[in-house]
Amino acid sequence: MSHAELQQVVVLGATGSVGTSTLDVLDRNREQYSVYALSAHRNVELLASQCQQFEPVFAAMSDPGAAAQLQQRLQRAGSRTSVLSGPDSLERIAVDSRVTSVMAAVVGYAGLAPVMAAATAGKRILLANKEAMVVAGELLVATARENGATILPVDSEHNAIFQCLPAGDSTSWRKEIVSLVLTASGGPFREWSAEQMERATVEQALAHPNWDMGQKISIDSATMMNKGLEIIEASHLFGVDEQEIEVVVHPQSVVHSMVRFADGSVIAQMGNADMRTPIAHALGWPERLASGVAPIDFTRIGSLQFEPPDEQRFPCLRLARLALGKGGSAPAILNAANEVAVENFLKRRIGFADIARINQSALAQIPLEQPASVEHLAQIDRRARNLAVELVDSASTSTEIT
Ligand code: NDP
Ligand code: MG
Repeated sequence: MSHAELQQVVVLGATGSVGTSTLDVLDRNREQYSVYALSAHRNVELLASQCQQFEPVFAAMSDPGAAAQLQQRLQRAGSRTSVLSGPDSLERIAVDSRVTSVMAAVVGYAGLAPVMAAATAGKRILLANKEAMVVAGELLVATARENGATILPVDSEHNAIFQCLPAGDSTSWRKEIVSLVLTASGGPFREWSAEQMERATVEQALAHPNWDMGQKISIDSATMMNKGLEIIEASHLFGVDEQEIEVVVHPQSVVHSMVRFADGSVIAQMGNADMRTPIAHALGWPERLASGVAPIDFTRIGSLQFEPPDEQRFPCLRLARLALGKGGSAPAILNAANEVAVENFLKRRIGFADIARINQSALAQIPLEQPASVEHLAQIDRRARNLAVELVDSASTSTEIT
């Protein structure tokens, strides 16, 4: 492939766990891909070194102070990368006419605006940022469809399901499929009692047994809100109902998810627990790329376990199903409350079990609406955050955290 034919890729959230894995895959496939732009929030150090390595045309930082520092560093180093500043800069790089693919790997609601912009611009979106799909679901899918954008799932479970499903959308395979089966590792507290979880520390909650991930998703894995968000994500991505999505706890994280067919067949996707596989799959689809992931050694795995999820000990799973069933603004409210609760748990202001309590209260207290636009979603998000902050304040005065 000549230089002119290189696919131009934007990596939003380049300094994160998925972002750095994406750059690793891109680095192995330089004959096909060029890094057009990178984004980060505050991590000047890492973004500067990524700019040295990949020489993107643009580097965007949502934090203006960090952007100014990056600008100085790149100038001193004689870099030709142009620095863009502020939250809007992510949207600018996501819609650039030279860009073909956008890796959406910002964490949380903050990633929604650039994902919507990329969908409106008809880009190929590699979606890791599950919160964007949870919050904007129907609106995001409709925007992508209207503008010819393709959304390829990077979240390992959804990527696995995408690999197992027949081609086409749900209208073409609906009758052939009984359910989608999301696997869950169960997180660090899979075997803990509810009483033990009340006292769980930040360090214990961050210690995921199988995956090395960013802090927010690590806490979501410990509460199993991550699986809850993934149920909502799967429903929108694949056009299926809540009842058609099963969750099974599978502690080895070898089977990344499955599809159950009408004839009794189940197709599973397997691999080592390394995000470079789903990243490479989404990037290369429909072709396969080298990812650097070690081949799986079945003889060392020995056996695979499957257990039912426990919605009593992990109420966030139930809350997510509830929010999906209610529809409208419910998933956006749940997501906003959860982001606030997780942030405050990480700051040790509330206890681990308060996360689910705050999520439940926010969902119960805020009247539901039908989100009509991204601006409307922003209002819904803000309102839910404000309530969640109040709930954090009352929880933190009643909880003793050591
Ligand atoms: P990280 O916390 O490791 O990285 C987040 C990235 O987003 C960083 O580049 C960070 O920049 C940037 N960022 C953070 N806040 C903002 C903001 N307000 N505005 C703009 N950019 C921001 O997260 P992960 O890589 O773990 O996760 C990214 C997404 O992918 C999440 O939605 C997660 O659920 C999903 N995901 C992650 C998996 C994983 O294995 N990690 C697996 C499946 C899905 P900076 O470094 O400068 O702060
Ligand atoms: Mg996942």
